[in-house]
Amino acid sequence: MAGVVIEAGTEADLAKYKARDILDVDVELPPLSAELLHLTKWIATYYMCAWGEALRAALPPGSSGGSARSRVRTVAMVDLSDEAPFELPRGARQQEIIEQMRVWKAAEETPVPQTQVLAECGGTAATLKRLAEMGYLHIETEELDRSREDLEELLRTVSRPDLHVRQQEAVDAISAQIASGAFKTFLLHGVTGSGKTEVYLQALEAARQEGKTGIVLVPEISLTPQTVRRFRARFGDEVAVLHSRMGDGERYDAWRGIGEGRFPIVIGPRSAILAPLKDPQLIIVDEEHESSYKQFDPAPRYHARDVAVIRAMKNGATCILGSATPSLESLSNARAGKYQLLEMPERVPIDGVPARLPDVRVVDLRNEASMRGTNNALSPSLLAAIEERAEKKEQAILLLNRRGFAPVMECTSCGWVPECPDCSVSMVYHRPLNHLRCHYCGITKPPPRTCPECQGTELAFLGSGTQRLEAELAERLPDVRVLRMDLDTTSQKGSHNAILEQFGRGEADVLLGTQMVAKGLDFERVTLVGIIRAEAGLQLPDIRAEERTFQLLTQVAGRAGRADLAGQVYLQCVQPGHPVIQFALRHDYAGFAKYALETRHALNYPPAGRLVSILFSGPDDDATRTRAEQFRTLIDNHLKDVDRLGPSPAFIHRVKNRYRHQIILKIPESVPASRVREGLRKAESAAGSLPSGLRMTIDVDPVGLS
Ligand code: ADP
Ligand code: ZN
Ligand code: ZN
Repeated sequence: MAGVVIEAGTEADLAKYKARDILDVDVELPPLSAELLHLTKWIATYYMCAWGEALRAALPPGSSGGSARSRVRTVAMVDLSDEAPFELPRGARQQEIIEQMRVWKAAEETPVPQTQVLAECGGTAATLKRLAEMGYLHIETEELDRSREDLEELLRTVSRPDLHVRQQEAVDAISAQIASGAFKTFLLHGVTGSGKTEVYLQALEAARQEGKTGIVLVPEISLTPQTVRRFRARFGDEVAVLHSRMGDGERYDAWRGIGEGRFPIVIGPRSAILAPLKDPQLIIVDEEHESSYKQFDPAPRYHARDVAVIRAMKNGATCILGSATPSLESLSNARAGKYQLLEMPERVPIDGVPARLPDVRVVDLRNEASMRGTNNALSPSLLAAIEERAEKKEQAILLLNRRGFAPVMECTSCGWVPECPDCSVSMVYHRPLNHLRCHYCGITKPPPRTCPECQGTELAFLGSGTQRLEAELAERLPDVRVLRMDLDTTSQKGSHNAILEQFGRGEADVLLGTQMVAKGLDFERVTLVGIIRAEAGLQLPDIRAEERTFQLLTQVAGRAGRADLAGQVYLQCVQPGHPVIQFALRHDYAGFAKYALETRHALNYPPAGRLVSILFSGPDDDATRTRAEQFRTLIDNHLKDVDRLGPSPAFIHRVKNRYRHQIILKIPESVPASRVREGLRKAESAAGSLPSGLRMTIDVDPVGLS
């Protein structure tokens, strides 16, 4: 078992525990700083998990289990040092290495990967390290995700624009704060294309000029390659990029490099907030409203944005939360004076010409007679617009937040729909592989030829997923070149980036996909955005369903017409009068916030109060529900001034053959979090240990559905 030493105990402690011998110590990993010990302790307390669970999140995966340390190292690159002594070193092997290195240097082949040096000359990593210590060699860890040539190419293309007046004001305020060394959080609210990323870059430059370090959080590295590239272009190999598809070994090495102080800038998804950077003085959370900042499984179920603010506070650091559509929580904190609001309401002008937000045109699908009775997802006007752009060598992005071919397969005579045998959801038809798939557990099975209920042979595919939309385009606009981007086309490492690069090079006219296409993309030639079904997602029983939909519509609309070409958005819907759609088409964030906050306040939902979700799951429905009901009684005894909803079956009642029942606590602002924790702890100990097979999951500040 791997453990973490947090302090030295006393002789007296030995009476309390049975101490085990320490078999081995991972000396390569820099020790956790006092700062991270405090931060993980805070996470454990606030999110109600074990300190060990929080500590594990702060350690690279390779370190948490003895023999699991089969890590692949990042490529170490070896070069002759500029100050290499002229005389050869003494050892024969050492001489051989230096002579070979001189040959490579003369041929301009340096730096050479360490593995190549060792393969050609023999010796071990220690031999090279020794030569480096003697001043002969220079060994550098190669960048984690791109080759050196790419980096150099990037650094050549870097341009540092003069800031627009609004950007300058933001950078000035932030730089002054960084210099002061006192804690503050800024909420940078800037419309899409207002130049937020440039503000982050220059704020980080200001920090670096004072020798300070910083962390940049992005929602998901693979979805934001353009953003990451801009940071690397500006800061080169000062940047450690962490990503979720890194192997354990890569992550281990990155963690080590950061802990050793080799990378003063860390950019990564939510887990990067726990990176072992020493004393970060600037913490940036890009797209702070994104729900991917919340971790669900395994514990700690932390929200990286909130941890970012806490880490900054504990460190006297500056924190920037940036978004075109700030979360209602952050907006409220800004209004309450906890955060300082910085606004950038306009797009950056290009060559002095103010760039406008795109025009949004509503297509009311109820009036589209020609679509009735068909499975077509594209209205004639959107179809014509796509064709027109393709002819002008401009590009279009289409959003359809549903993958697969058809979301529903249905028997036309009896209405039977295939359901996942293990989860209470219907299965989605995927055409390329001709199977039905459960999007919750991933199980697949062949589609039946006849209805298992009535033996009917007419099985219809209803509705459109991204695969069907792709097929529809191929059929109706055969000359238009289409790329599809969804979970199914991006399951392989690098495939996401490959699709974006192809699109960026103009090798396709249309990029269609799920919400992946809405994020952080900036393509000059995209002048059309089509939203296939604007209200998809609104009906989900989630307190944030409207907020999510508004954010998604605003984000994807922002992809149109970013440079000198005017942008147009076609928003297809069946409820054009819905307030969320109305606010989205007017780019009216303030109006939306006012509308949504009214409901949240009326119902004591965040940000008006806080939520804690308690989910029980088990193989037996009755036993699980009974346990949840018992717990409800205990909560009612121990937590009096808290509103309680449920237990009731979770939104998806059964997942992977486990039944789920949920209790939601609504905690008024007046009740301190510590009291809730205490009450829950008491209820937990009164409830006793869980029967085997049952699981109870506490989620503090939950996000999304269970
Ligand atoms: P946001 O992150 O707010 O959507 P970006 O930072 O991506 O906006 O900026 C949008 C575009 O404008 C990018 O192509 C960026 O390079 C460009 N840009 C940003 N700031 C400036 C500036 N001051 N002058 C010229 N171009 C800029
Ligand atoms: Zn049937
Ligand atoms: Zn399933």
